[in-house]
Amino acid sequence: MMNAASDDAMGTGADDAMGAGADGPMGSGADGPMGAETVAGGGGGLDTAFFVAWLEEAAGEIARQRDRLTELDAAIGDADHGTNLDRGFSEVLRALRETPPASPAQALMAAGATLIRRVGGASGPLYGSAFRQMGKALDSGEAPGTAVTPAAFAEAFGAGVVAVERLGKAAAGDKTMIDALAPAARALAQTVRDGLGTGEALARAARAAADGARATVPMTARRGRASYLGERSVGHEDPGAASSALIVAALTTAASRTAAG
Ligand code: ADP
Ligand code: MG
Repeated sequence: MMNAASDDAMGTGADDAMGAGADGPMGSGADGPMGAETVAGGGGGLDTAFFVAWLEEAAGEIARQRDRLTELDAAIGDADHGTNLDRGFSEVLRALRETPPASPAQALMAAGATLIRRVGGASGPLYGSAFRQMGKALDSGEAPGTAVTPAAFAEAFGAGVVAVERLGKAAAGDKTMIDALAPAARALAQTVRDGLGTGEALARAARAAADGARATVPMTARRGRASYLGERSVGHEDPGAASSALIVAALTTAASRTAAG
């Protein structure tokens, strides 16, 4: 669908959550305060250039796989997921070019705001809230040029996933983007606890998201448009889980392109 505001955007009676979800308390379940910890550039830190590269790589991969994403949505939705996201991420790149972000938080918040504004389908507000919440979690009024630690990013990513869960009222196993995003968040948190390097952390997150997307094939959709099909949604990969896997995988290509790799 083209216009989230004119329709039952979430297809699940979750409309009342749409306005409030992004700003509500997060209660990420992680111990300790939200990750606003920063490091001064380099040293495994993720800087603004890394986050811009992430969004660029995600946009590129979504453009390349636009037709596959739309075909997945044709099977269990309304055949617009690839075009929705391709348009939204193109707008994200345009916004970043027009107003170059001065911090990781600014880059992510600008991306989130653009996706919320520009993508009509359910996925726009959901991804938009995720990026905005990630940005807010990293927003410590840091000086331009500072980089966030992998630990702070892992916490922020987790907060982004919680924002999606709240807004969409979806949980693991509902055959949505959550089934790719939540395993990625867990993998990131685990690699931080294990003290692994940034490259390995991002690679594990990418694998977890890809495995999570594949695992949606035998699931019955319980949220979003695909839930209208009930049992007939079985046997198809969820398009939002597939796009989430691309977005998470873009972290690794961004890292190898920038100092973070
Ligand atoms: P629409 O369904 O409005 O056409 P898209 O096709 O762009 O929007 O996105 C569909 C994807 O959005 C689904 O495959 C699913 O992953 C995700 N999605 C839909 N509703 C929800 C929800 N309530 N919670 C989480 N994810 C959802
Ligand atoms: Mg759709």
